[in-house]
Amino acid sequence: MRRILKNSKNVEELLREGNLICLLCDTPLKIGRKEHGHVVDNSPSVDKIVPQNGYTRGNMWIICYRCNRIKDNATPEELIRIGERTREKRDSITLAQKEKKL
Ligand SMILES: [Zn+2]
Repeated sequence: MRRILKNSKNVEELLREGNLICLLCDTPLKIGRKEHGHVVDNSPSVDKIVPQNGYTRGNMWIICYRCNRIKDNATPEELIRIGERTREKRDSITLAQKEKKL
């Protein structure tokens, strides 16, 4: 990512394409926002669409820092499975809590 960030022309071009909205979660991106010296969730970040293909033209997009952290180098299938299992577990806990209150 640092390599690309040094080339501001590429980043500006990508930011224009993304209209300053995270292309994954639609969160408005805020450039240069840091809290306590840390990058905030809605900071723009350059991501490799297919991680194995590197930071090459056509394989990069601007997404928010939070989505980039979540996505990391996971495959779409892994992300779906993690999401589904998290939802199943969360729903079962919520249901158990509701039943306890009845
Ligand atoms: Zn996002």
